Amino acid sequence: MRDTTVTIIGAGIAGLASALALLRSGQRVRVFEATRELAEIGAGLSITPNAGRALIALGLRDELDAIGSKPPLGVMRHYASGEVLVRLEQDQSVATYGVPLYHVHRADLHQSLVDAVRRIDPQAIVLDRTLTGIVEDERSIRSTYNNDATHSSDWLLGADGIRSSARAALFGQDEPKFTGYVAYRGLVNTADLPSGCLDPPLVMAVGPRRLLMRYPLRRGTLLNIVAIASRAAWTDEGWSVAAPVSELVREFADFDAQSRAILERIPTDKCFKWGLFDRDPMTTWTRGRATLAGDAAHAMPPFTGQGAVMALEDAVVLGRAVAAARDIPEALQRYEAARHARTVQALAMSRSRANLYFGDDPGEQIKALGAGMREIRGLYDYDAGTTPV
Ligand SMILES: Cc1cc2nc3c(=O)[nH]c(=O)nc-3n(C[C@H](O)[C@H](O)[C@H](O)COP(=O)(O)OP(=O)(O)OC[C@H]3O[C@@H](n4cnc5c(N)ncnc54)[C@H](O)[C@@H]3O)c2cc1C
Repeated sequence: MRDTTVTIIGAGIAGLASALALLRSGQRVRVFEATRELAEIGAGLSITPNAGRALIALGLRDELDAIGSKPPLGVMRHYASGEVLVRLEQDQSVATYGVPLYHVHRADLHQSLVDAVRRIDPQAIVLDRTLTGIVEDERSIRSTYNNDATHSSDWLLGADGIRSSARAALFGQDEPKFTGYVAYRGLVNTADLPSGCLDPPLVMAVGPRRLLMRYPLRRGTLLNIVAIASRAAWTDEGWSVAAPVSELVREFADFDAQSRAILERIPTDKCFKWGLFDRDPMTTWTRGRATLAGDAAHAMPPFTGQGAVMALEDAVVLGRAVAAARDIPEALQRYEAARHARTVQALAMSRSRANLYFGDDPGEQIKALGAGMREIRGLYDYDAGTTPV
């Protein structure tokens, strides 16, 4: 399969990591991305050891060490009194899995992937191309874009996220489901925080039907905040919108004074609200000369922190499937066969945790969170670089 041409829709984590894996497998790659510039957006992501292994397989070990922050000591606290309910042990990932667990800024991971792709092929990423349609014939697959552009290739990968147009073009329109939760994400410069807010640096405050997490990024210069609350419906335009800090502060008004002081310091341009959506698992995500990866194939709520992780695993397995196969149908079949059950497992895990984490009683929520963390660790042994394809 060397020198076959592939079109990738979307330059997010799945699209760029796949581009890198496929360039390394000898494919000729073009990635078409809707946005006009690759700006710095997003906040913290967890790179659990299974994701770390995937990045190492992609040749990005040094980049990971440079952009990642190892989890510091932390606590779980009662939302109102601030009382420490559980002390979290120091992360043991290196000793247990041979790979660290890192927290990274999504923008830093994204930039590392962009740079790595462009080092191999400076022309690989094409911006300002929004997919509008896909037509396949016996010899090729043709994609069309917003500004009358078209592109033909031997096969296509849809990696355009939870609201994937590639998925809709290939399998028909089906709307993602609102999970009943929203996540506010914000970043604060640690230099702007009152004293004591970083002691300890990692805190999860557990309140009725809400969770408020904070942990440092970028060598402790930023504090990442994720605040999850429940909602009957998502009525905003788009799945990610700028949110007034006052709305977030109001939502968490009954939390302890330190938590509120931190929320109040989020700069207005660094506070975003995301509707948390997912989709039922697909029976197959491959059709003809096209397949899907990342959220386009298996969007999941973030309660296990495995969305970006699964996208990285997909990319490595896809690159290996292509390297091992004689033709496109075999490559796509090997890829999906290797990835389907694993992503269904991660989705089911994430869904089943939601109601337990967001109960009414912080004591019960803490027990559920502890059990959830133990269950998630069952996903960490996976090695996308060696799993059979
Ligand atoms: C801007 C942004 C910021 C994010 N920040 C965070 C965060 O801080 N924390 C977190 O946990 N998760 C974040 N996520 C979600 C997280 O990155 C994904 O859930 C996960 O990484 C799976 O990645 P993905 O590549 O499948 O999807 P995504 O990361 O969503 O990437 C999809 C890409 O496809 C592009 N695209 C969409 N439609 C089209 C189209 N029709 N034609 C061409 N291109 C298209 C999008 O612009 C995007 O670049 C963010 C996603 C985005 C897009």
